[in-house]
Amino acid sequence: MSAAAPAAPGRPPHSAVVVGAGLAGLTAAVELADRGMRVTVLEARDRVGGRTRGIEVAPGRWIDAGAAYLGDRHTELHTLLAACDLKTAPTAMHGASRFALAEDGSRATTDGRFPPLNAVALGDLFEQLDELAAAVRPDAPWLSPNADRLDALTAADWAERQLPHPDARLFFPLFLGEMMAADPAEVSVLHLAFYLRSGGGLRYLNAFEGGAQQDRVAGGAHRLCERLARRLLEAGGVLHTGEPALAVEQSDGEVTVRTPSGSYRAAAAVVAVPPLLADAIEFRPGLPVRRAGSRTGRGCAVKVNLVFPQPVWREHGLSGWSVNAAGPLLSTVDDTPPEGSPGVLTGFVTGAEAHRFAALSPAEQRAAAVDQASRLFPMLPEPVGFHVTDWVNEPWSRGCYAALFGPGDWLALGPTLTVPHGRVHFAGTETSAEFFGLLEGAIRSGRRAAAELLAR
Ligand SMILES: Cc1cc2nc3c(=O)[nH]c(=O)nc-3n(C[C@H](O)[C@H](O)[C@H](O)COP(=O)(O)OP(=O)(O)OC[C@H]3O[C@@H](n4cnc5c(N)ncnc54)[C@H](O)[C@@H]3O)c2cc1C
Repeated sequence: MSAAAPAAPGRPPHSAVVVGAGLAGLTAAVELADRGMRVTVLEARDRVGGRTRGIEVAPGRWIDAGAAYLGDRHTELHTLLAACDLKTAPTAMHGASRFALAEDGSRATTDGRFPPLNAVALGDLFEQLDELAAAVRPDAPWLSPNADRLDALTAADWAERQLPHPDARLFFPLFLGEMMAADPAEVSVLHLAFYLRSGGGLRYLNAFEGGAQQDRVAGGAHRLCERLARRLLEAGGVLHTGEPALAVEQSDGEVTVRTPSGSYRAAAAVVAVPPLLADAIEFRPGLPVRRAGSRTGRGCAVKVNLVFPQPVWREHGLSGWSVNAAGPLLSTVDDTPPEGSPGVLTGFVTGAEAHRFAALSPAEQRAAAVDQASRLFPMLPEPVGFHVTDWVNEPWSRGCYAALFGPGDWLALGPTLTVPHGRVHFAGTETSAEFFGLLEGAIRSGRRAAAELLAR
């Protein structure tokens, strides 16, 4: 699985190069290898998994630095986990929630997860979002009624016009930060509506029990990519890590992918990387439409994991869940491994706050996060472990949880997102109309790209 790639002397028949060893690329690669194709996967990082990554918080106990949660509707993910002999475990969400939403910084503790804000104003916000999602065409958002108008408007502009109540205005950016790692100024209303629809609706996307956060992959979601990589090798495939694709050329009925250390020739290719990174690859002949626009943003999430000997908040009837108007930790959740210890409180630093936090020194990050966590949960001892994963500045992700389509993006990019460019096919969660931005979307996109290629 190490790097080093001699230039291939000739193109084997029925061969494919897959660029990107995230979930989408590996799904496509394994499907192709299982059907007898000779598959080479090129991965820029020195590991597989892309936006999934594990942290071992105690011997044999893993948590997720990247993607973590899944729900029952993520059917392809469940099927793949079962095929890879991996299990899921329920996400812990028992006990009361903490909210620090008041201007004076005071905290409220409530049963359940509904914030202590004006219920009518929040109900009205959710109704409006439901209406937007219901009106969007999930298969082709750019053909939705009023697509032009909705694609020109940012979610921040929309909130300014549509949300008269201060509680709804306060909650809206927190909600978008938690759900999409987005600053409302960065996404178009069409993208917001599509994201909600694609993910199964607002309630499903935000729920733990019965929703998209119901379970986690026992041992960490990164294991899925590791198992897929192993299956690829067992099926005769080849994987080169530390091997970024710089150019994808097509001539004489074949594709050549160039990297800093060599070139790889094949009958066809799958490019399975996020839009901003696909746009950085040189395509010859050039793409008719770029993969990202000037307003395509990177989702902004920094994940902070505080590790304690035990999840002590549970003894105090608290779930570990909190939502906070001030950062850095805009929300926290109990991410204790299924084995029950060590206690892990994960903080999400999202949207504009993620840029501020990412710019701090490690010592400042730790001081700010520990201080806020211990104000929220005064029973916490000093953490025994502290991990920060800055996805904002990860050069090989450029956007987490997923790319954010800004004004104009859906109309310009949408029609060609999944259209092959000659012998080059495109995958990646951002090319999936279903569960866009999620693990499930990545798998579905990988399957689609493999099917396209096999049908050639
Ligand atoms: C903090 C965080 C939390 C998340 N939470 C969840 C969650 O709870 N549930 C959920 O379903 N999803 C979640 N997601 C989203 C989920 O991780 C992604 O949707 C999914 O992993 C995307 O897979 P992908 O294969 O499309 O892209 P990626 O995982 O980004 O894979 C692309 C791969 O391509 C490589 N690459 C890029 N450019 C090149 C190049 N030029 N040459 C070669 N290789 C290249 C990258 O290194 C990467 O390995 C989260 C993401 C993050 C970061």
